[in-house]
Amino acid sequence: MLRTGREHLESIRDGRTIYLGSEKVTDVAEHPAFRNAAKTIAAVYDLKRDQAHEAFASYEGEGGERFSSYYLQPRSRDDLRKRTRTHQLIGDATYGMWGRSIDHVSSFITAMAMRSDIFSRKGAQYGANITAFYERMRSEDAYASYAITPPQGSRDPEFYQRQNLASPTLRVVDEKDDGIVISGMKMLATGGVFSNYVFVGNILPLAPSQIKESVTCMVPVSAPGVALWARKSLEREARSEFEAPLTWRFDETDSMLMCDNVKIPWEYVFTMDDPDQSRNIYIETPAHSFGNHQANVRFHSKMKLIVGLASRITQSSGADQVPAVRETLGRLAALESALNGMIHGQIECAEDWGNGYIGYNRRMMYAALNWCTENYSPIVDCLRELCGGGVFQMPADISVSEDPALAEQFETFFRTPQMHAQDRMKLFKLAWDVVGTEFAGRHQSYEKFYAGAAFVVKNHNFRETPWEYFRKIVDDLMASYDVPQHALRDAAE
Ligand SMILES: Cc1cc2nc3c(=O)[nH]c(=O)nc-3n(C[C@H](O)[C@H](O)[C@H](O)COP(=O)(O)OP(=O)(O)OC[C@H]3O[C@@H](n4cnc5c(N)ncnc54)[C@H](O)[C@@H]3O)c2cc1C
Repeated sequence: MLRTGREHLESIRDGRTIYLGSEKVTDVAEHPAFRNAAKTIAAVYDLKRDQAHEAFASYEGEGGERFSSYYLQPRSRDDLRKRTRTHQLIGDATYGMWGRSIDHVSSFITAMAMRSDIFSRKGAQYGANITAFYERMRSEDAYASYAITPPQGSRDPEFYQRQNLASPTLRVVDEKDDGIVISGMKMLATGGVFSNYVFVGNILPLAPSQIKESVTCMVPVSAPGVALWARKSLEREARSEFEAPLTWRFDETDSMLMCDNVKIPWEYVFTMDDPDQSRNIYIETPAHSFGNHQANVRFHSKMKLIVGLASRITQSSGADQVPAVRETLGRLAALESALNGMIHGQIECAEDWGNGYIGYNRRMMYAALNWCTENYSPIVDCLRELCGGGVFQMPADISVSEDPALAEQFETFFRTPQMHAQDRMKLFKLAWDVVGTEFAGRHQSYEKFYAGAAFVVKNHNFRETPWEYFRKIVDDLMASYDVPQHALRDAAE
């Protein structure tokens, strides 16, 4: 099934518990802190099922039903291309500003089900569970977020032992005939308040003693005992769409997942009581590369907006005619195009998973991930420089246009030869939402941390590198020439 936007909004009006500070949100689709973002997701659902995109954004399943293409388990490069085009459609529609969009966690689940044998290794039921959940999510066209990182407060387990307190991190606290019971906190469910399920797991390695924390399962957002503690709403603080157009539409929110004795049926459990397994499911299956390929594509959508903004901003003052500014623009464009190449390289150099499925090239995906993590702040800083002080030269808000005398002065003094005053103000407000607002600041943190801290991303790159191959290049080169005869003689003497 291909869910409509309206159906999705109905699906999240399910009595879920969301806290904004002490305020309990009753209808996330209508609440002023969330309603525009909710509309954005609904629009993405509708866009994806639009006839104009049918050829790539959905595919026909075994029984003739249509499913979203990010549920496609690829057997060819064309299948990979179909998936990528769908990520592009969604990324472009949200200008790369919606990190955990509906195609992110679904890509993890799809890829995990491509190697259900990895799950079955620890019990046939776990392999069957991941396959069944994949099929369920696909037929519901559901939106899942995830919380796969332990809270910062759980880094020192001994502190809690000394105080005789339970560590705050999520764990299995009971097992019953029909399921498990989980309690504790996990971070950071971006998009969680708009999703139907939160995938809970452990992307970072656990210590061998962390047996009960090593659970991977699907948590329905409306299950009794589940609460999402959302961070401050940025959408609610935006005065108007004109003032902060990205904040207005794309505040996906981040929430801590709080579970208080939440019952999870066995069918939703994918790993249990095995710290190694709970981490390996991301890297022994194509899951991590599928989910983060989406992240690469989404970042590229954002790069396209930034390059366009850089060009328009410099045009608005005529600076685009200055050779040094053109060099800066050329450099930005080169960065955008390099990332595009890295994305398509992942398809051209696809990997065979040995069971009929193929996946994106993992080394290239991790390289792009590292590239994105390292480059976002300098890129945004470059846009900041191109903006000069333009943002601060604008009147406090657009109400100047309501007063005829002020409006006339505004147009006379604030225009440039290239652009009317109102258009300039509109452009700088948009640029500031990438460079300087709180929404922009949150994005800078997001791009640094969404796949883990920088050292985590570098470790993924280290792990996937065929070091023997590179060392052999050095060894073969050194083997192609001899140690000088006199050095051998000297050593012998
Ligand atoms: C906006 C945003 C959205 C997010 N969305 C999600 C989400 O949807 N789902 C999810 O599961 N997670 C999400 N995350 C969480 C993200 O996975 C974590 O923030 C990330 O893993 C880093 O963990 P931390 O915040 O606890 O930082 P820490 O691990 O405490 O790191 C803080 C700093 O200390 C440094 N540091 C710590 N330990 C080491 C070490 N051993 N070696 C070198 N340096 C070290 C780090 O480099 C970093 O600079 C999100 C984060 C952000 C900021």
